[in-house]
Amino acid sequence: MNYIQIAIDGPAGAGKSTIAKLIAEHLNYIYIDSGAMYRAITLKAIKLGIDLEDERMYDFVKDTKFKFLNGTLFMDDVDVSHDIRENNVSNNVSLVSSYFFVRKELVRAQQILAKNHNVVMDGRDIGYKVLPDAKYKFYLTASIKKRAERRNIDNLERNIKSNLEVIEKEIERRDFLDTTRKYSPLKAADDAVIIDTSDLTIDQVVKLITEKIMEDEKNGF
Ligand code: C5P
Repeated sequence: MNYIQIAIDGPAGAGKSTIAKLIAEHLNYIYIDSGAMYRAITLKAIKLGIDLEDERMYDFVKDTKFKFLNGTLFMDDVDVSHDIRENNVSNNVSLVSSYFFVRKELVRAQQILAKNHNVVMDGRDIGYKVLPDAKYKFYLTASIKKRAERRNIDNLERNIKSNLEVIEKEIERRDFLDTTRKYSPLKAADDAVIIDTSDLTIDQVVKLITEKIMEDEKNGF
């Protein structure tokens, strides 16, 4: 049986995870939030008290177990979905995800999670690195201002302390680190459909993507 993979990449706050989750629900596919996995490893590194800047300390990644249940991430059988959104994780995740060993292990784990299922996976390198053969690839982007506003609302809804200006700076910093890092920087796959979501609602983007997929599938592409 041929499984369908949908890759959704883009910078922080472009609406990827909300949109990917809704598309997965709509199509009854499994949703895999790869950013949550990098966040979870960052959380574990902080809890272990290792020197985050010492790349040699990340051996623990290969013994870490991941499971997604209805879009919720369990790391080593513990639901970490709330803790991985905390500011100390957000502020360190770009550093942790820049390490070759961390990426190698997580890309492998992501490929295993995507095997034998229809999946929607979102991240930074999904279309060109993790799932290069994905049948559908999208790259979502939006202005920094819009992205910061969305993250701010998101944080407040999750009861996480939030300040719009601080978030804007943090997103700018994260964009810079994610696009300039040596291994698997944030970029669109050559064959990805690029969508600017600045002036679109979540529902409009979900509709745009699901309609394209359903149309293509109906026509046997
Ligand atoms: O998607 P989210 O913003 O939660 O991702 C958090 C961070 O994880 C990103 O800023 C990036 O540094 C890293 N990441 C990555 N590769 C992915 C997904 C996320 O490097 N595929």
